[in-house]
Amino acid sequence: MEFLLYNTLTRRKEAVRPLDGNAVRMYACGPTVYDFAHIGNLRTYLFEDVLRRTLEYLGLSVKHVMNITDVGHLVSDADTGEDKMQKALAREQLPPTVESLRTLADRYTQAFLADLSALNILRPHVLPKATDHVPQMIALIERMMKNGYAYATPLAVYFDVAKFPGYTALSGQKLKEKSVGARDEVEVDPAKKHPADFALWFKLAGKNAQHVMRWESPWGVGFPGWHIECSAMSERHLGFPFDLHCGGEDHIAVHHTNEIAQNEAAYGMRTVQVWLHGAFLDLGKAKMAKSAGTFVKLSDVVERGYDPISYRYLCLNTHYRQKLNFSWEALDGAAQALKRLRRAAAELEAPAVGCAEYEAHFARAISDDLNTPQALAVLWDMLSDHSLPGHAKRQSLAQFDRVLGLRLGETVAAEIPKNILALVARREEARKKKDWKESDRLRDEGASAGFTIEDTPDGPRVAPKG
Ligand code: AMP
Ligand code: ZN
Repeated sequence: MEFLLYNTLTRRKEAVRPLDGNAVRMYACGPTVYDFAHIGNLRTYLFEDVLRRTLEYLGLSVKHVMNITDVGHLVSDADTGEDKMQKALAREQLPPTVESLRTLADRYTQAFLADLSALNILRPHVLPKATDHVPQMIALIERMMKNGYAYATPLAVYFDVAKFPGYTALSGQKLKEKSVGARDEVEVDPAKKHPADFALWFKLAGKNAQHVMRWESPWGVGFPGWHIECSAMSERHLGFPFDLHCGGEDHIAVHHTNEIAQNEAAYGMRTVQVWLHGAFLDLGKAKMAKSAGTFVKLSDVVERGYDPISYRYLCLNTHYRQKLNFSWEALDGAAQALKRLRRAAAELEAPAVGCAEYEAHFARAISDDLNTPQALAVLWDMLSDHSLPGHAKRQSLAQFDRVLGLRLGETVAAEIPKNILALVARREEARKKKDWKESDRLRDEGASAGFTIEDTPDGPRVAPKG
């Protein structure tokens, strides 16, 4: 059976054929660590997790790299963007120093990792930080310069899009439609050759004169653009060419378009086999964007008493290339389904030989461009098939959960009432603030309601007493 994935670049499903035997090298754009992730970001990381798990399920080995952006990602397309990290310092009442930028990055990297664990997302094998890779970025820009694709102005070093004929191949846009160099535009630079030329390196000049993070470069002291970061980190940790590059669909028109241009201008070859993009999660009609200030975090989900895996279930139930409209009602439905699934799992006997037919259906579904809604349907069909013994269902269920990651062996969390889960979340908040008195009080309150709360390295574990 072939494993098919939709390649944004060729606009069709293609069979996965790793460049290097059985080993798949995969890069995913990671968070800019200036704030908590919203559940939209997490949807994209969930899709990437299912992709990795599916590759492994199908017998391939995977090297999964996800960057941590801690410098150079500016606020937005057209506005006179500041570095998102630097802007966040004011919100956190931190002084504009390198040290506080590091504190900020550490804080939100930890929060990001906690979200991954809560959603049972396998941790990427490498989580490189942009600030640790500036020499690699400079080397890439030098290659582009040497090959005639980049030029310097008094404000910045730009990629010369007119020199790169396939520039808009990924998005299919016309070059005319790309009036500004999108996210990295700091101010209109009169020395730019084309409005779509995008920054590779910002000098400490104009609006960026006060930028805190700064490095020496052949073009003067400054800091890298956001797009060059992913080119340099994917090259450093996977090598060119590599197999899969993923991200959210917002990255098609700008960030990944620019990465392709950079890589190919530097090396004169195709550097990524398949480009994959997850569709957005929307909140009602609005896009869920951090910069809009109205976004739902995973902690909001937990505070309302949901097991975070319910959110994972919700995402699996929609194909990753389809928009998903988030609502609390939909999450309720997912939470109920997960609860039923775990109950059904608990009632099955100890695992033995699995159900070959359903395992084949399951493999067919996930091999068809990660069709997780179909895979869930196969799972439900198997459970309601009365001709099969429980031990066989249990075995297949355990196999399926290697891809789904729904922690189907866990029945406890599903049986905890919402008010107790909310209490546990409040207690976690208190512990974060080192308010031990409040934390003990909440533990006692849980105990009098009949639940024990135990602290483990993976977070709190709550169970009915006795
Ligand atoms: P950022 O931290 O903004 O660079 O985004 C991190 C990842 O989340 C990227 O892969 C984005 O494409 C993705 N992303 C951003 N907003 C959403 C959304 N509303 N739904 C799904 N993915 C998103
Ligand atoms: Zn990226």
